[in-house]
Parts: sequence; C-alpha cells; structure tokens
Amino acid sequence: MSDHTIPYKIYLSETEIPSAWYNLRADMKNKPAPLLNPGTHQPMTAAELSGVFCDELIEQELDDTTPFFAIPEPIREYYRTYRPSPLVRAYHLEKALGTPAKIYYKFEGNNTSGSHKLNSAIAQAYYAKKQGLKGVTTETGAGQWGTALSMACSYFGLDCKVYMVKVSYEQKPFRREVMRTYGASVTPSPSMETAVGRKILAEHPGTTGSLGCAISEAVEVATSIPGYRYVLGSVLNQVLLHQSVIGLETKTALDKYGITPDIIIGCAGGGSNLGGLIAPFMGEKLRGEKDYRIIAVEPASCPSFTRGKYAYDFCDTGMVCPLAKMYTLGSGFIPAPNHVGGLRYHGMSSTLSQLYADGLMEAVSVPQTSVFEAAEYFARVEGILPAPESSHAIRVAIDEAVKCRESGEEKTIVFGLTGTGYFDMVAYEKFHDGKMSDYIPTDEELKASLDKLPVV
Ligand SMILES: *Cc1c(COP(=O)(O)O)cnc(C)c1O
Repeated sequence: MSDHTIPYKIYLSETEIPSAWYNLRADMKNKPAPLLNPGTHQPMTAAELSGVFCDELIEQELDDTTPFFAIPEPIREYYRTYRPSPLVRAYHLEKALGTPAKIYYKFEGNNTSGSHKLNSAIAQAYYAKKQGLKGVTTETGAGQWGTALSMACSYFGLDCKVYMVKVSYEQKPFRREVMRTYGASVTPSPSMETAVGRKILAEHPGTTGSLGCAISEAVEVATSIPGYRYVLGSVLNQVLLHQSVIGLETKTALDKYGITPDIIIGCAGGGSNLGGLIAPFMGEKLRGEKDYRIIAVEPASCPSFTRGKYAYDFCDTGMVCPLAKMYTLGSGFIPAPNHVGGLRYHGMSSTLSQLYADGLMEAVSVPQTSVFEAAEYFARVEGILPAPESSHAIRVAIDEAVKCRESGEEKTIVFGLTGTGYFDMVAYEKFHDGKMSDYIPTDEELKASLDKLPVV
C-alpha cells in the first residue's frame, strides 16, 4: 500500500449527512430547457403538472434558481439508517493495475435496495405522504428503483404500485419478491390493465417492454385513481437534486484529506447518480473556481449521449408525458433485450444534456462484455460484487488508470459505484458462459427511431 495517510474508507459522521440538497441548475448560465406541454408546446406549469406529480416535488422540478433546498428532518432520519455512504480508496485495484493513479469510489450499494435510488425514493415518498396522498405509482426497469420506492413507501405508510419492464420481471423474480415483501404490488409491463398497455401490446405483440412503456402505464394509473401520483426514479431535475447527497458527501470526504479529483466518472442511464455525484464539482466548474474532467459512461446498446440527438422528445413510449429537451434515441427506441442493465432509457436528464451540449462534460459508450470484464476484475480485487450499471463506470475508471500507467501521471480518479449486483446473476451467468452479446444498434435503426421525434 503506497499511501497510508488516506484510510481505505473515508467515513463521515452522521452529523455530516448534508442538511440541504444542492440544486446545480442555480449555477448554470444556460438553464436546462423546460418541460413542454405535448399539446400546446408551451412550458408546463405547476398547475398542469399537479395531476401527475406531488406538489412540493413540482416546485423542486421547476426551480432553476434556488441553490439549496433544506432536507426535511424525517428524510434525514431515514438517511441515517444507511448514510453517510463510504468513499473507498481502491488500493487493491490500483495495485492490481500497477497504476500511479489514485482511485476512489463512492459506494451507494450499502442499503437493502442495493443502489443510490433510495436517496430519491425516500424524499419522494415523504412529500407524497405530506400531501396526504394514498399512494404512488411508478415504473421499474432492472428493479432497483421499484425496490427502493417499496422500501420508502412502507416506511411512510403509502401504497406503491410498480409497473416492471416485462423482461426484468421474468429474469428477476427475486427483485419482484423483495418489492412485495415491502408491500408493493408489481405488474409486468406492458400489461392489459391499462389502455396504453393494451395499445402497445396490440402494436408490438410479444414485446419484452421498455422503461418508456412502463412509464406510460404508471402515469395512466396515477392520473386515473384519486389520491395517487406518479413518481420517477431518474431523469427529472428533482431526482438529480435529491441525489446531490452523493456528491456533497464525496466532496466533504475528499476535502477532509485535501484531495482534489482530476477525473470524475459515473454511469449514465437517466443521469441521476451522475448528476448527483458531480453536482458540487460541476458547480465549482460553472462558477469558474475549479476544473475537472467529468465523464458519463453509457452502454453502446443504448447510447443517448454519444449517438442520440439533442431535441425535444416524449419521456415515454405512449407519448402521454410532457416533452423534455434531452439527448434522445427517440421515445420508440427499445433496446435489445440482451442488454440487462438499468441503463436502457431512451433519453437523458435535461440538466446533464445541457451541460453536455455546452461542452462541460464528456461521454463515452462501452460494449457490454467489456463492462462485465471490468466488473469481474473489480469484484476479484476489491471484493464488492458490482451492479452491471455501476460497472460501466468501473470500465472507464480502469481505462483511465491504465492510461496513467502508460503516461506515468498520478491522476486522482473518483467514480460512482452505484450499487451491488446480487440480482444480476443471470447476466453474470451469460457472461461466464460466453453467451453475452454486444448488440449495438445500427445507424439505420437509430435513424428510424429518431425520424419519429416530435416536431417542436
Ligand atoms: C438505476 C441505476 C443506475 C442508472 O440510473 P441513473 O439515473 O442514470 O443513475 C445506475 N446504477 C444503478 C445501480 C442503478 O440502479
């Protein structure tokens, strides 16, 4: 071990759990584009959104100027059960790679849901309860968000209806049972229960589903039952806001030891963990105080940043949600079912999209088998069994560390390890058996989907 002054795990104390979320948008000169009403193409007002979302979450969603939102005490109380999360110095990984780079990862898998998603689930359930609602509906892809929301709803005594992408519902029966253990009802999507589900099934019989389909179903149910609202686990501004606890804790821990990262890396599905991790660092960058290289890592099978278009698009397949301006592959894009990760969403957070369009961050896409190679390597040297999603960030952290080995540069790399992979053993099995494929969409496939973008 080269550097004994830094402990393996930089733990913070309970009192260092952030007392306010940081709203990165407040420091952005070019604000993310507003959500538009799909009928009128005018910015969505709070009143229009109030049938779908909880009131206080709408305020957070639409607020581009308030830099800090105090975290209500009941939320901090729940955060105390699993936060602060450790920032780990990856000494073993550094040694195995023979790199002079210093690698740190912020580990968000230390709770039963197994990912960072609980950070926002608990906030969203709290505001739903505070508003006097009976329950919430949502979609889940790989299952982490549904699990996190089930936990949060049982904590606050709310009903929770989860529409789970069919391919995951079938591949991950244990995820489903965890959700039911916490009292949620789980329906495979598309289903015959909703008008939009029936329509999608009629048009695409035998479809394995997508997040976009499941969102349409969950929104339909939330808006048709009194006392229910819809909640979303990623993409939205409010979710990035809640996830800023990841970055704020990371920065506090690094500051304690006077460490300044050169490169910050995160996987990007809808952009919430990455948006949360980078928030305080990007804030410094936007204010001209510091500079960092920030890298989003996405799957080559669902490459919104690297091959998508920056345009207004529907957030869901059924086209019932507002339009968001984002890097998108088109709301009709359904990634190949062989890709098991929770990074299958067709679009990207509008906040991160604007930052990327402004050249403030980079993005790379990586093929699936190379991600699992990195996952396995990491598991063997660091011990933690990483989620496939998180392993996209591991892949690029390793690649950057290897570049340092070649150049002799002692860069400091921080990456987000968003969760654990215990429920992803079918995917690991495919990888071990050599049956994992790296399906990458062709230009024609992407064009077919992008040609259907709404004209705004
Ligand atoms: C959902 C999920 C992601 C991707 O979602 P983002 O909103 O992009 O953060 C990444 N890692 C894990 C473990 C997840 O569950």
